[in-house]
Amino acid sequence: MAKKLARKKSSTKTGKFVYFFGGGKAEGDRTMKDLLGGKGSGLAEMTNAGLPVPPGMTVSTEACTLYYQGGRKTPAAVDAQMLDNLKRLEKTAGKKLGDVRNPLLVSVRSGAKFSMPGMMDTILNLGLNDQSVEGLKAKTRNGRFAYDSYRRFIQMFGNVVLEIPKDVFEHEFDAVKKERSAKLDTDLDEAALKDVVARYKQVVKAKTGKDFPQDPLTQLRGARDAVFRSWNNARAIEYRRIYEIPDAIGTAVNVQAMVFGNSGDRSATGVGFTRNPATGAKEFYGEFLVNAQGEDVVSGVRTPQPIAELQRVMPKAYKQLRDITTRLEKHYRDVQDFEFTIEDDKLYMLQTRSGKRTGYAAVVIATDLVNEKLITPKEAVLQVEPESVSQLLAPMFDPAEWKKLPVATKGLPASPGAASGQAVFTADDAVEWTRQGKRVMLVRKETVPDDIHGMFVAQGILTATGGMTSHAAVVGRQMGKPSIVGAGALEISESQRQFRVGGQIVKEGEWVSFDGLTGEVKLGQVATQPSEVLQVISGKMKPTASPLYKRFEQLLSYADKFRRLGIRANADQPDQAETAYAFGARGIGLCRTEHMFFGEGRIPIVQRMILADNEADRRKALDELLPMQRDDFYGVFKAMHGEPVTIRTIDPPLHEFLPKREDLMVDIARLEATNGNKQELEEKHKLLRRVEQLHEFNPMLGHRGVRLGITYPEITEMQTRAIMEAACRLNKEGLKVVPEIMIPLVGSVKELRDQKVIVDRVAADVMKEMGIKITYLVGTMIEVPRGAITADEIAADAQFFSFGTNDLTQLTYGFSRDDIGKFLGAYQDKKILDKDPFATIDTVGVGQLVDTGVRKGRATRPDLKVGICGEHGGDPSSIHFFEKVKLDYVSASPYRIPVARLAAAQAALQVKVGD
Ligand code: PEP
Ligand code: MG
Repeated sequence: MAKKLARKKSSTKTGKFVYFFGGGKAEGDRTMKDLLGGKGSGLAEMTNAGLPVPPGMTVSTEACTLYYQGGRKTPAAVDAQMLDNLKRLEKTAGKKLGDVRNPLLVSVRSGAKFSMPGMMDTILNLGLNDQSVEGLKAKTRNGRFAYDSYRRFIQMFGNVVLEIPKDVFEHEFDAVKKERSAKLDTDLDEAALKDVVARYKQVVKAKTGKDFPQDPLTQLRGARDAVFRSWNNARAIEYRRIYEIPDAIGTAVNVQAMVFGNSGDRSATGVGFTRNPATGAKEFYGEFLVNAQGEDVVSGVRTPQPIAELQRVMPKAYKQLRDITTRLEKHYRDVQDFEFTIEDDKLYMLQTRSGKRTGYAAVVIATDLVNEKLITPKEAVLQVEPESVSQLLAPMFDPAEWKKLPVATKGLPASPGAASGQAVFTADDAVEWTRQGKRVMLVRKETVPDDIHGMFVAQGILTATGGMTSHAAVVGRQMGKPSIVGAGALEISESQRQFRVGGQIVKEGEWVSFDGLTGEVKLGQVATQPSEVLQVISGKMKPTASPLYKRFEQLLSYADKFRRLGIRANADQPDQAETAYAFGARGIGLCRTEHMFFGEGRIPIVQRMILADNEADRRKALDELLPMQRDDFYGVFKAMHGEPVTIRTIDPPLHEFLPKREDLMVDIARLEATNGNKQELEEKHKLLRRVEQLHEFNPMLGHRGVRLGITYPEITEMQTRAIMEAACRLNKEGLKVVPEIMIPLVGSVKELRDQKVIVDRVAADVMKEMGIKITYLVGTMIEVPRGAITADEIAADAQFFSFGTNDLTQLTYGFSRDDIGKFLGAYQDKKILDKDPFATIDTVGVGQLVDTGVRKGRATRPDLKVGICGEHGGDPSSIHFFEKVKLDYVSASPYRIPVARLAAAQAALQVKVGD
């Protein structure tokens, strides 16, 4: 999910940092997400649309940046504007902050450009103090409500602003409950809550040495700065790392008049989606709680009621909510995720934004919206994150195996997918066990934002409480992680590391499986099977039998209309080529011929070739390999139905085909000690001598690539013959194939020329022998920096280029592609590297070489065909770059083809001329 670095609309020129909304008009709108955050821009847009939104103000993300630049201090100009807007807010609301008779209370919430559910802080009921609480009591004629609001405020403020641990407050609260023999929080009356307030104030005094601030402006400033601070709490930082959200963009702060969903039984609060975010089904979807505050719904502490129930208990508000949210979906042309509060039967909208959804739902929703004529195919293509389509390829349970186990319990199906893992009960354990190579299932009562690292590594997330919009559900869905929440029958004991369900005890390490689409949980390990899409692709299921496949194809066929880049596959075997073709690849960008050498029974022949100490013996072994390679190529060409196939001559250092030196030494020692077979011993000695001869200090910079073809021309001869014989045969059979023979690791045109002479000679021989003339191309990989720099010279002899960005990254940075793991983490922590350059192309350095190579190559040969076959060919943000530098195609592994098709379409639509 690569996020482009946000370009903020600069307001420093105007000096405006605070934007008002209320009374039917707002200073912001939906286009100002960079400055107002997602929440702020949504509130402004809804206000302008005349929807019932409590008034408020948004302190911009720029103020947050200045807060950090000023050493965690809010500039005076920001403060002054906030106070001016507070006056305006008081006027619009007809109430004053801290007023004894009719107090205004506000919520103070974070809101970044990209939604970061639950990662930052929120403070509710701000403005209450010893006087205004009495005002609230008088106004609502509900002392219990007033004091409950006050104690919640002190607790939140105490925790978020004054940084007092939550459990200190909880301890006092429980003590009061115990004293009064109260079971539920709601059993506490006004007097008891007054007691809680008094105790909380003592806690604040004891922990901070100061009284709880009674001045509402001190409260407001403190809350605002605490929200700015929460941008850099550990979980928010971790969340941004996972979702590649830039650290520099900061959060806005929304200060908004409170409305109370907890003011009685005619009040409620809830959240919802205009469509099901897990499956994409077109259904009004969400949940609510009567007499509760928003945090109660999302925290997962109370399991809320499904939204359909609201129709029964508050029909008028329900109808209005449906009308408004349908309007919002049409207006934004996308599924909306909304928050609302009903105060004494009156509905208020508190938020609307594009709803996060699973990859599965994203595809369903985008195609539905097109079919309903709400959006165009182009918008559908732009709406779905490319990675989403790979979720449709995730495995599912083998239905026969799944049926064998009884259902242990059922929870809410928050995020689809089959998950099977060993139960762990903490996020840290999940990480630790995964590090040990285990597959884990994270089982929690409820998840909290601090669990994010454990959720990330787990196979699935299973919680006992919470609804479909609880933290576990929202985050699990976004990660595309199978998740089930609210499985109330689970009695989880984190301390004992076990849970009980239906009389059975499941201990840490025991297997748990669930189906995130149905919500069924089973005890035991269950084998998985390929997804429906994969079954269609492999011909096991008819396309017409899979509605999901139809949608997948619908979306990707739209993508094909908009993309400019060709899509090829990296495939070495006919079956891989078939899969790639079925996924939509039209050509092979890289066939690594040496992979064929590892085929059954071939290694001994390859070893004989390597061990040969004269050309004649080497040719003998190559003659044995020839028919095998020819059959391989024949199969690959055929599977590609005449689409172009690029075949690369041998690339890796030869010692990769021989046993390890250490293993040979052990074998020899054993044979000598046991007086073993003499001939075997002699052979091992010979092998060891050759292995030692071939030993290199830097094999990646050693005798590999084109250098092998130069020193052993007979290998190039054999491979060319195999390619040409297969191609001529197919052309004779009526399938027109145009082989593209590719020479690897070329840094100088002279290297390429040396090999081209061989290829052309053998090709001519084969065509003569077979009595047919076919078209073939000879080209090169550009993967050595010198190759890119001298691309103009190389293009004189190369008919095509393919950028090997794996080696090009390795050789440009000087990072070994096999050893970067040792220091990549540290580089990322220290922000020396943003991303792994072997996964996402370094556009600044390596990308410059690609750009130079393309330009210089085409300067010599304007019709030069240029592609890329490094791993970056399947990475969406790299594909964006390859669109910019006008490559002809990208080549990716077969399972990345759908992602590449969609990413290429988005790139074509987003990259503008002159970018
Ligand atoms: C490359 O270097 O990018 C490439 C595709 O070749 P290989 O990964 O086989 O070295
Ligand atoms: Mg390479």
